[in-house]
Amino acid sequence: MKAVVTGGAGFIGSHLCDHLIGQGHEVVALDDLSTGSESNLEQLGGHPRFELVKGSVLDKALVDDVVAAHDTVFHMAAAVGVHTIVDKPLESLRTNLHGTENVVEAAVRHGAGYLIASTSEIYGKNDTDGLTEDADRILGSPLKSRWSYAAAKGLDELVAYIHGGDSGLPCAITRFFNIVGPRQTGRYGMVVPRFVDQALAGEPITVYGEGTQRRCFGSVFDVVPAMVRLLECPPARNRAVNLGGLEEVSIGELAQRVIELTGSTGDVVHVPYEEAYGEGYEDMRRRMPDTTLAADLIGYEPQWRLDDIIASIIGDKRADTPPQHPALAS
Ligand code: UDP
Repeated sequence: MKAVVTGGAGFIGSHLCDHLIGQGHEVVALDDLSTGSESNLEQLGGHPRFELVKGSVLDKALVDDVVAAHDTVFHMAAAVGVHTIVDKPLESLRTNLHGTENVVEAAVRHGAGYLIASTSEIYGKNDTDGLTEDADRILGSPLKSRWSYAAAKGLDELVAYIHGGDSGLPCAITRFFNIVGPRQTGRYGMVVPRFVDQALAGEPITVYGEGTQRRCFGSVFDVVPAMVRLLECPPARNRAVNLGGLEEVSIGELAQRVIELTGSTGDVVHVPYEEAYGEGYEDMRRRMPDTTLAADLIGYEPQWRLDDIIASIIGDKRADTPPQHPALAS
């Protein structure tokens, strides 16, 4: 495989680069380093099958140039994190809409198979027990920028899906449910690295709202190989597939687990949503995936338990363990 990974210096993108290199593929990461960082790719520096191209997915000519020389594209570049979406609504929309359009159109023009990263956010406020891929979207007002990520990603799926059907190229859409792991930064939202940073610094852990909202956190080490398998699996073509973990936890419980696993003496403080994200913010009460489709298509079975995921993040932040994918270590 000669693969392009857009957003390759980001959290999931950099682990995907490690995995692809570990499998013997050639990889170019395309990243504008807006939220990603070169340090996420340190372990690949100087590797003969790896290259980092610094640039934006909004640069149509550059995207076309990079994709032209490759047979596979993983589109991971996006404006991510609730703080990014709320604080920079227009920039986020541009990246998430036009960036995806540029990447998918270039892939189709050059006959490259492509996978786009979507999100459980597209289900919005639907809090069904075990969301299947055909579950309805329940979004708030289109004028609330909070929902712009979900709206843009929904359109991205359509762009990928329509082009996939017309071109007959391998096309996969993965919907990630709160994927976490080493290298993820808490700067833009993302609750697990935020809580771990706070606990390690002995600072109070900031639980937004009551802490009764529930999530299922999935490991980056479970979903990265699954992405590659989905793109290589003909029955998965042109379908959206949920990927995530199966252990549900409330955010209040998550704070307690982080305190226990770090040995922190810090307290928990409850921060009202409007203080955290601004007036009128609406949170998802519950978001839990049904991953039966991924299990049926590629035998997906998450291996990482939440405590082990949290421990791997603590280890990374304390620099006790090298921040690299297991595929590279073997
Ligand atoms: N959250 C929190 N404290 C923080 C950051 C986030 O309590 O410092 C909450 C947030 O309101 C949400 C959950 O943790 O209910 C997960 O937030 P994240 O941004 O990681 O992902 P989301 O599920 O909102 O996309």
